[in-house]
Amino acid sequence: MAVPTADKVQEIREVTRIERIGAHSHIRGLGLDDALEARNVSQGMVGQVDARRAAGVILEMIKEGKIAGRALLIAGHPGTGKTAIAMGMAQALGSDTPFTSIAGSEIFSLEMGKTEALTQAFRKSIGVRIKEETEIIEGEVVEIQIDRPATGTGAKVGKLTLKTTEMETIYDLGQKMIESLTKEKVQAGDIITIDKATGKITKLGRSFTRARDYDAMGAQTKFVQCPEGELQKRKEVVHTVTLHEIDVINSRTQGFLALFSGDTGEIKSEVREQINGKVAEWREEGKAEIVPGVLFIDEVHMLDIESFSFLNRALESDMAPILIMATNRGITRIRGTNYQSPHGIPIDLLDRLLIISTVPYEEKEIKLILKIRCEEEDVEMTDDAMTVLTRIGMETSLRYSIQLITTANLVARKRKATEVDVDDIKRVYSLFLDESRSTQFLKEYQQEFMF
Ligand code: ATP
Repeated sequence: MAVPTADKVQEIREVTRIERIGAHSHIRGLGLDDALEARNVSQGMVGQVDARRAAGVILEMIKEGKIAGRALLIAGHPGTGKTAIAMGMAQALGSDTPFTSIAGSEIFSLEMGKTEALTQAFRKSIGVRIKEETEIIEGEVVEIQIDRPATGTGAKVGKLTLKTTEMETIYDLGQKMIESLTKEKVQAGDIITIDKATGKITKLGRSFTRARDYDAMGAQTKFVQCPEGELQKRKEVVHTVTLHEIDVINSRTQGFLALFSGDTGEIKSEVREQINGKVAEWREEGKAEIVPGVLFIDEVHMLDIESFSFLNRALESDMAPILIMATNRGITRIRGTNYQSPHGIPIDLLDRLLIISTVPYEEKEIKLILKIRCEEEDVEMTDDAMTVLTRIGMETSLRYSIQLITTANLVARKRKATEVDVDDIKRVYSLFLDESRSTQFLKEYQQEFMF
């Protein structure tokens, strides 16, 4: 059975990440302190302190294994950070925690049945951390990558190629390297050479900015982790793939290409059964562990009664991801029935839910979020322009005002300015309509549109 290699997986993730979750790239966690209180601005998160604190408590339950069979519902108006909070939870669980975001309406497509679409979403949200550890064979060339010492960041910084016949000297060399790495202020991504005799480090430059980019370039990453300078005579490769990625690569001849295009079609249940069996075997042998990720279903009221039954059953599985749903509806009809229910969710599923709510933002919070987005998108903006954009955010929607950042920056660049000014904001505000102006426009011109 084929397993996707670490560098290939990375490549695909880079591509899909940009499209799917670019809008939330500034979110790095929930921004809580040790007492689970929400810091007002932290890890890219602003305000919404009650919801974040509640999410933090749920994270603790997850870590203690007490979430099984339950799910989370975030109720709140559009643009109040429901997706951002779900994403923050995934980030707080660890950088290799899978995060999948779908809208309830997405599962009704012509290409596959809704159960299949939901199954795929579930399996995209379950990671398998695969460990490969082998003894280094005499004479083999090994590359050793060293964790950055004394900073606690754990960034991989060094690469050292040695033959195993030189292994005896590795431990001494390791000690020298650690001293030298600290002294030379080696950063993640620096390319270095190491004098094997003295352990002295010379920087060659910074071709790759992050260790991740190094992986993405397809470089073979065989490395020995050496916490606190302790080098081990083993090489270990650890990477996380999702169950869905393993499914796809084993079910279609085009393998990885299908993952790129997203056109994976339906996957046979025999393939999944075989994969589940294999993964269970790996777990028993200590070769793999399951990393439950986060599956976020927005507009959950768009799901129908059959999909809700599926969710109910899927939550019972011992490999279930953390299910977070979001809605902005109150009492509404459950799709596929004539019954009304809170949030359009059947009672048996509602019983399993922990519900938190998000509240509309105040002006200063909108301003802070916009500032964070400007930083994230590398956009300089004058204070006046920021004030105007904040007002637009208050009067239209947060999402609309976030979208104006890049477009205004393009307009500013056209006039060779380095900073976005009020006029640039005005210009894009008149070019692109927000929801209420576009509906107004359609209303005014209804006659012309309705032939
Ligand atoms: P919808 O219900 O329409 O899907 P939502 O409640 O999920 O909306 P988001 O998509 O999370 O809202 O928010 C809109 C944008 O604002 C995103 O780019 C998000 O990352 C950002 N954002 C929202 N809330 C916060 C916050 N508290 N801190 C930082 N960024 C936020």
